[in-house]
Amino acid sequence: MMVRSDNRFEGERSEGMSETIESNSWRPARFMVIVGHPDDADFGPAGTAAAWIQAGSEGWLVCCTSGDAGGEDPDLDPLELALAREEEQREAAAVVGYEGVTFLHQPDGNLANDLPLREMLVREIRTFRPDAVICGDPEVVIHTGGGVNHTDHRAAAMAAVDAVYPAARNPMAFPWLARNGLAAHRVRRIFLMWSNTPDTWIDVSPTAERKIEALRCHASQLHDPEAVFTRVRSRLAEQGARIGSAAAEAYRVVVLDPDPTSETADVAEGMAEASGKAARTPTAR
Ligand SMILES: [Zn+2]
Repeated sequence: MMVRSDNRFEGERSEGMSETIESNSWRPARFMVIVGHPDDADFGPAGTAAAWIQAGSEGWLVCCTSGDAGGEDPDLDPLELALAREEEQREAAAVVGYEGVTFLHQPDGNLANDLPLREMLVREIRTFRPDAVICGDPEVVIHTGGGVNHTDHRAAAMAAVDAVYPAARNPMAFPWLARNGLAAHRVRRIFLMWSNTPDTWIDVSPTAERKIEALRCHASQLHDPEAVFTRVRSRLAEQGARIGSAAAEAYRVVVLDPDPTSETADVAEGMAEASGKAARTPTAR
């Protein structure tokens, strides 16, 4: 169940509208999660991803870095750590049910929203052709509850949004991609996680424990796993209380395009087929 609050517009908010919550059952047939580090997707939208996949969606995960700076020992070999963390993320992705994971191997702690990163993300988007992308909220520098939003989270979020709009849908952005078979693709909705201004809560009661199992895979990052799981469970319950469910994950949702009617979907399909660029599934890397 997806629930969206009705107070997204300034005009309504200024009237002091209470937090009216509307039911909304929108679910993407295909979605892509784009994050900075291995484990972000599991601390982030794993409950939603698992719920959507359980209901029949196909998901793909993109990690911009492999978390090679995610340790406390300066003598640790960063490449060994990256390898271990990729393995942990693959295991977690299997728990959630993603079709696959792409690691872009960008430097942990130094991720930049630059053209090379955006081109890599546009490649991913045009290859998997998701209806929705889940990423961080690029407008969050300081979390409302306190704490700095990690620089890699900000860069990954900004790059993801920029890749979705306008680059992925514009055939003249990185034109060599379209010339080589990666046709422009319109992502219809962006789900911004870890937002300071969420407007949509997704019920993840049936998959909350799957999220915990996915988190358990990130052994290198968990010094006191049970304490972490307790915090995650209480956060899920807190968000769930907003919509009267046992557990929820919160998003700010950006709707870029209306869903195609069956008529427009046929036209889009025909166009993709005519140019030999129909949706396909990338091979796992
Ligand atoms: Zn992170």
